[in-house]
Amino acid sequence: MVVTKGSYIKMARLRSHPKYSQFRLDAGCLALNFVATVRHRGSEPRDLLGTPEALAAWLKVIGLSPSPVHISLKDLDEALHLREAIFRTAHNLILCNLPNHDDINLINEAARFSVAIPQLIMDSDFINWETSHPVKASLAAIARDAIIISSHKERERLKMCNDKGCLMLFKDLSPNNRRRWCSMSICGNRSKVLQHREQKKSLMT
Ligand SMILES: [Zn+2]
Repeated sequence: MVVTKGSYIKMARLRSHPKYSQFRLDAGCLALNFVATVRHRGSEPRDLLGTPEALAAWLKVIGLSPSPVHISLKDLDEALHLREAIFRTAHNLILCNLPNHDDINLINEAARFSVAIPQLIMDSDFINWETSHPVKASLAAIARDAIIISSHKERERLKMCNDKGCLMLFKDLSPNNRRRWCSMSICGNRSKVLQHREQKKSLMT
C-alpha cells in the first residue's frame, strides 16, 4: 500500500472498517501507541480518532489528560497531521529510507511546546497536570517520544508487524530484539494457524 502525505487520513476515514474498534496500547511507546490509533493500516484501515471526542477519550486512556479536555476540530486536525508524520517517519526508518523533511519539521515543531507539569493534590489520589493548552502539551509529549525513538540508538528497535493486513508499527522491547508480530496472541497466532493450514493442504495434495 502506498501512503502519501495528506491522503492517508482521508483514505482511512473513507475506508473505515467496523472491526478493530479497540485502542491498541501495546506498541511499546507513546508515539507508536498514537500511530496505532489507525488500526489495520495494511488492509482495512480504521481511524479510531475520527472525532474530537475520540481524541479526548484516547488522551484519557493513555493518561496524558486525565480530566476531560475540550478539543476543537483544529486541535484534532493538528493531532492527526502529527500522527501521520510520525507514522511516515517511523515507517521510512524501518524501511531504511530517509524520512520526509516536512514530517521532521512538523514533529520538531510540535515537540517545542511545553509539556504539562504534574502537581500532587493534597488529600487526593489525583495528579493535576498544569498546562495552558492540554492538547498541544499532549502532542508535545508524543512528538518528543517520536524524536527519541527515531534516534540512531533506538531506531533498530522500530518494527512493523509481519502480518500484511496489520502492518502495525511497534517498538520491540524484547531482550533479543527479534519480534516479528505486533502481538503473538493476535497476529502471531493467526500466522501460525495459516501456516498450519498451508502445511496440511500441501500434505493432502
Ligand atoms: Zn499485527
